[in-house]
Amino acid sequence: MNQPNDTARIDTIEPEQSYADNPLEDRSTDHYQAEYVQSFVEKWDELIDWDRRESSEGKFFIDLLRRLGKRSVLDVATGTGFHSVQLLRAGFDVTSADGNAEMLSKAFINARRRGFVLRTVPADWRWLNRDIVGRYDAVICLGNSFTHLFSERDRRRALAEFYAALRHDGVLILDQRNYDRLLDSGVATKHAYYYCGEAVRAEPEHVDDGLARFRYEFPDKSVYHLNMFPLRKRYVRNLMKEVGFQDVTTYGDFQETHANLDPDFFVHVATKE
Ligand code: SAM
Repeated sequence: MNQPNDTARIDTIEPEQSYADNPLEDRSTDHYQAEYVQSFVEKWDELIDWDRRESSEGKFFIDLLRRLGKRSVLDVATGTGFHSVQLLRAGFDVTSADGNAEMLSKAFINARRRGFVLRTVPADWRWLNRDIVGRYDAVICLGNSFTHLFSERDRRRALAEFYAALRHDGVLILDQRNYDRLLDSGVATKHAYYYCGEAVRAEPEHVDDGLARFRYEFPDKSVYHLNMFPLRKRYVRNLMKEVGFQDVTTYGDFQETHANLDPDFFVHVATKE
C-alpha cells in the first residue's frame, strides 16, 4: 500500500547527471539529455551570467544579422534563452528550438521575466524539419552547442537539417570553442567569453581526439560535467561546405576582423547562396 509520503518524495527527486562507470566512455549524441538535468540547467545561468556575457559579446550577432538583412531567426540551441531574448528585444522574429525540455522551459521563464513570450519548439537537430514550420532567414546554433554531436553522420545530418530550414538566401551562424588550441597545447581559455559566471570554475578534465570532458564547479561546491566532441575549426568549415553551404566566413571571439589569430571561440557564418 502507498504510504502518504510516497508521492511527495517521488516528486522531489531530481535526476542527477548520469554517466557510465567510466565517464570517458560516454561519447554519444543522445547523451546531452542525460547531462542537461534540471539542477544543472538551473545553475546554467550562473555559469553564463547574462549581463557579463552581454558585455563580452556585445551586439555582434545583432549587428551581423542586421548587416546581412535578416529578420526571421531560428535559434536551434536555445538553451536558457540568452540569444533568443536578446534578438527579440532587438526586434527580430525569433523561433526558439532545443532538444532538451528542461532548457526550453527555463528559457520560457527567463523570457517571461524580461517581458517576452518565446515561441518554443522542442526539436532535436537530427529531425529538425519534422518539427518546425516554414523557412528562416537565419539559423543560429550558439554557445558551443554543435560540440554535442559525437558522430560525423549526426553532424552532417544536423547541418543538412539547418540548411533545409533556411530560405534560399539564408545564413547559418554557428560557434564553437577553439578546440584546436585545447587539442594541440592543452590550453582551454585565455579570456572569459561565455563561461564567465563570477565564481564558476570551468576546466577540461580529459581531452583526446574524440572527447573533451569539462568539469564545472559552482560556488555551493556542486560539480557537473559535460562530455563534448572537440571540433577542429577546419573540419567544421569543410563539413559546412560539403553539405552545400557556398561560403563560410569565420570570426574569432566575436570580432568583425580576424585580427585575433588565437581566439577562445570561433563564429562560422555560412551562406546558402
Ligand atoms: N545556446 C545556448 C547558450 O549559448 O547559452 C545553450 C548552449 S548549451 C551549451 C547547448 C544546447 O544545445 C543545450 O540547450 C542542448 O539541449 C542543446 N542540444 C544539444 N544537442 C542537441 C541536439 N542534438 N538537438 C537539439 N538540441 C541539442
